[in-house]
Amino acid sequence: MDLQTVQAWVTGAQRIVGFTGAGISTESGIPDFRSPGGVWARNRMVDFEEFLTSEEGRVEYWRQKVEAWPAMRAARPNAGHAAFVRLHSLGKLSVLITQNIDGLHQTSGLPRQAVLELHGTTTEAACLSCGDRITSDEACERVEAGERAPRCLKCGGFLKPATISFGQPLSSAVLRRAQSEAESCDLLLAVGSSLVVEPAASIPRVAKYNGARLVIVNREPTPVDEIADAVVRGEIGDVLPAIVGQES
Ligand code: NAD
Repeated sequence: MDLQTVQAWVTGAQRIVGFTGAGISTESGIPDFRSPGGVWARNRMVDFEEFLTSEEGRVEYWRQKVEAWPAMRAARPNAGHAAFVRLHSLGKLSVLITQNIDGLHQTSGLPRQAVLELHGTTTEAACLSCGDRITSDEACERVEAGERAPRCLKCGGFLKPATISFGQPLSSAVLRRAQSEAESCDLLLAVGSSLVVEPAASIPRVAKYNGARLVIVNREPTPVDEIADAVVRGEIGDVLPAIVGQES
């Protein structure tokens, strides 16, 4: 499918749902899941069960968080994020569903309520008992000051970065809203995701099976390509601004 046709679909669409994965943030310097040498590749994975049951696991989790936070905090949105801001300002973006935890869609200018973070956010830490939240800046300062696995100051529960760990259930409210937005959109634009992590990866399928056009922008093939109306290969920062009619 040529780029002009995809541009025309975007121009004609009324309710676009954006769906993004780690690939949209690589041009901001945040490695995607499979990059060799990235934080995710270097560190031992502490799953949710281990976090709940082992002080050593919690200490290791927070050690990794403190190591990764400065680079995450310093990252700035790129042309791909800006393309979704343009769709929003044109009144076409009903919601942006993201698997990313980096908060860059909000930093780029999308209002909080326009972003559904399926896997949570790394910009805050949440108490697993009472739900109270503090900023990651505050949590990391406390770890560096000697609290190796910080506890909630309100109730004493375990504080955990507000991301969804392996083995931790997604927020059912967020997932329900994402599915319902996918059911009612007329175009879903899936960008920078390998579309292999479930249940997030089923969202583009939901849109397609409910009659929306499905456009996938990714440099590698995905398992959902075969049902897409268009698959655009290339670097997101080059092709996404063009698709939404914005100079890169
Ligand atoms: P993924 O790493 O599985 O897939 C990313 C895809 O983007 C790959 O297919 C890759 O080829 C493509 N890609 C990377 N850079 C690109 C570019 N500049 N242009 C075009 N394509 C590009 O990511 P996923 O599907 O989001 O799943 C990974 C999981 O890890 C998610 O659950 C996510 O929460 C988490 N994660 C998040 C971040 C983040 O918040 N930035 C980073 C790494 C991992």
